[in-house]
Parts: sequence; C-alpha cells; structure tokens
Amino acid sequence: MTADRLVVGSSGNVSARAGDLVAVTPTGLPYAELTPELVGVHRLDGTAADAPLAPTSELPMHLAAYRLTDAAAVVHTHSTAATAVSLLVDELPALHYLIGLFGGPVRVARYATYGTDELADAMAEALDGRTACLLGNHGALTVGRTLAEAYDRAVYLEWLCDVWLRATAAGRPRLLPPEEVGRVTAKLSTYGVRDARRDPE
Ligand SMILES: [Zn+2]
Repeated sequence: MTADRLVVGSSGNVSARAGDLVAVTPTGLPYAELTPELVGVHRLDGTAADAPLAPTSELPMHLAAYRLTDAAAVVHTHSTAATAVSLLVDELPALHYLIGLFGGPVRVARYATYGTDELADAMAEALDGRTACLLGNHGALTVGRTLAEAYDRAVYLEWLCDVWLRATAAGRPRLLPPEEVGRVTAKLSTYGVRDARRDPE
C-alpha cells in the first residue's frame, strides 16, 4: 500500500475473513514493521481470538462491511485522489467504464469521526450494492472476494478519482449513461480473481 501510494505513515488498514474469523492489521504500527505474527485474528463480534496487539480502530467498519456483503477482504486507504474527491461530491459518477468494477457510481459516505460506530454505519449505507465507497473527508474502502481483488479495486478506484479530478479541473466531463454502466458492470463481474484473471483492456 505504501509503494502504491495508497497510504502515508501507518494510516489505512486491511482485513481478510475466513469463516467466522477476521485477520486485521493492528493499530498504529508502521507497515515496514508489520509481520504475519502481528496481524491479529478477531471474531465477527469484534472480540479477539488471537491478537498480540490492539486491532485497527476501524475494526467496526471492517466488520460492518462483512455483515453487509459476502466479501472475503476489505481494504481501507487514504489515497490522495480518492480522499480529494471525498471532499467535493456525494458520488463519483460514471466517468469511465471501469466504474463497473464497483457496480456503478461510487457513493461518498457522510463524514463521521474515525473509529466510531457512526462511521461504520455511514460506510455501510454508502457501500450497499457496490464493491467500494468513499468516506467523506477521510478516504476510501473497497471489498473483494479475495484480498487481491479488494486491493486491485483500491488501485483502480484511486486511478478513477485521479482522472475525475483532472477532467473536472479542465472542463465539464461527459458521463456514461446508466444502461452502459449496467452493461460494463455485468462484463467486469468476471474479472478480478487474480489466479484466473484477465485484466480490463
Ligand atoms: Zn482511515
């Protein structure tokens, strides 16, 4: 995440679910110091099953994403363009066909203090029916059937937000009609599992 410039410092967090257990990054630890043993395992009710360190303060948001979707992984970033877009609009519109990776325009959750149940609730409202949302004045969240898929979506979302910022800075972007968004969402649903992946062209 650091090399791909999705986070700065120890911000952002990642989790993966297997059955009723969630492995999630700990709070406040620089990524360079993170080892597998330090990644804690928690139950879906948030209690620790095997965790040497306190979990990320955003554990409630991760658990809300697992309650809402059948995702096996959640990636939360503070990537620059996505965060910038979260200050400006209520929704990242259908500016490019890759919006189909997220099931349509990506909503921006209303602002709430980090680490709170209020933020988890606002996130869940914005994520409903999508594979990503932006968090108002905060960052981005993506889900996936695998950790690789959730991660790739975070990278694509950042790219789309960057394109949108450039386009709106230069003029008034043309947008794709809803029927085309539906078509590309269906086409792109077969992409994304890394083992058998065909990248969008
Ligand atoms: Zn955050």
